[in-house]
Amino acid sequence: MANEVRATTTMEKIVSLAKRRGFIFPSSEIYGGLNSCWDYGPLGVELKNNVKRAWWKANVQERDDLVGLDAGILMHPRVWEASGHLEGFTDPLVDCKNCKQRFRADHLTTERCPECGGELTEARNFNLMFKTYLGPVEESAAIVYLRPETAQGIFVNFQNVLTTTRKKIPFGVAQIGKSFRNEITPGNFTFRTREFEQMEIEYFVKPGTDEEFYKQWVEDRFKWYIDLGITPERLRLRPHDPDELAHYAKGCSDIEYYFPMGWSELEGIANRTDFDLKRHSEFSGNKLEVFDQETNEHYIPYVIEPSAGADRATLAFLLDAYTEEPDKDETRVVLRLHPALAPYKVGVLPLSRKEPLVKLAKEITAKLRRYWMTDYDDAKSIGRRYRRQDEIGTPYCVTVDFDSLEDQAVTIRDRDTMEQTRVPIAELVNVLREKLEF
Ligand code: ATP
Repeated sequence: MANEVRATTTMEKIVSLAKRRGFIFPSSEIYGGLNSCWDYGPLGVELKNNVKRAWWKANVQERDDLVGLDAGILMHPRVWEASGHLEGFTDPLVDCKNCKQRFRADHLTTERCPECGGELTEARNFNLMFKTYLGPVEESAAIVYLRPETAQGIFVNFQNVLTTTRKKIPFGVAQIGKSFRNEITPGNFTFRTREFEQMEIEYFVKPGTDEEFYKQWVEDRFKWYIDLGITPERLRLRPHDPDELAHYAKGCSDIEYYFPMGWSELEGIANRTDFDLKRHSEFSGNKLEVFDQETNEHYIPYVIEPSAGADRATLAFLLDAYTEEPDKDETRVVLRLHPALAPYKVGVLPLSRKEPLVKLAKEITAKLRRYWMTDYDDAKSIGRRYRRQDEIGTPYCVTVDFDSLEDQAVTIRDRDTMEQTRVPIAELVNVLREKLEF
């Protein structure tokens, strides 16, 4: 088929590159690792921070109608009663009577164990929230939960944000933070883990205008991934069927990416109606509503929720950027990351390790570091060093050679085109600034 969508590479290759270059390591590796838990290494933390920064910039910095929030992971336990999570945040779980493995019943395609063909138990509901105790006494009155979504932190602060910012409907609150779910079947690298980061927006609107804002958010969020370099063919929108909708939602669409395991959710955009604010009003006794000056009426706003995963987005950007291309007799691996996401923006490479070349290259590095994450590398051959920078996605390399000492100029090499241009050192910051404007 001509239009068949293909993944850029396999998950194994990305897991291996991530480990080898310092993007993502298995958690607690010296103890043998912890099932489906991962740590971000020196390059991974830069990449993920850049993903979060790009999201914050598009949704908070560049908009007049959104503000930020950073609520705690631990919240009053009543929050989870009101939100419906205590009762309803469950997955149907089945066990294999033979090999004892556990599966999500709604993920199975057969009635037997997919591993060994054994008989399965009846499905029972398993709550995904992690429980812990507040304070030293482990008693039921002290039970708290690690939040399974960041959204509720926004709802419980609705009045605080409204009164302190004097925002008027429509307005939104954006938040990035950790969430925890005791997933039955984590896996596919960082795609599904038990501890992960979400990037969530609650956008409050007047009932009746919700459909229109819902459509707008679906469009805006889809475009965000494309603008940051995701290949359009590997991104699609999947509206939920009515029987798939969560208990609170009037409409929901998933933005899906073509991962190596197939189309899978990157982000969900839901019309949550007034469900959450209404429930918190009931449970807390505080009226979470706004006053409409035109009609002289109080009402509870509807809310549109674009809910993305920072780890899933990071994984998708990493996968999508991966390319292998022939380079003479070898293969050049390039991470064609958008410059806004690239861990290092510039690599400075002196042609030789000899003085005074190294001194000049280090001076240049120090100057560039005031503006950008800059990597200095003088180990091994220049070819090997270019290859390493390509493999970690550095958009520009600055090479300092023996002529640089004479003509006070350096060469900028473009990661994608491999084109080289000579630039006076005095102009370097300005030239790079133009190239790295995003
Ligand atoms: P799924 O169906 O994949 O379990 P979900 O529909 O339950 O996901 P939401 O509750 O809509 O997910 O969460 C919003 C976003 O948070 C998801 O689109 C995803 O990017 C991220 N996310 C959810 N669960 C996980 C997880 N276990 N690991 C990593 N990211 C997650």
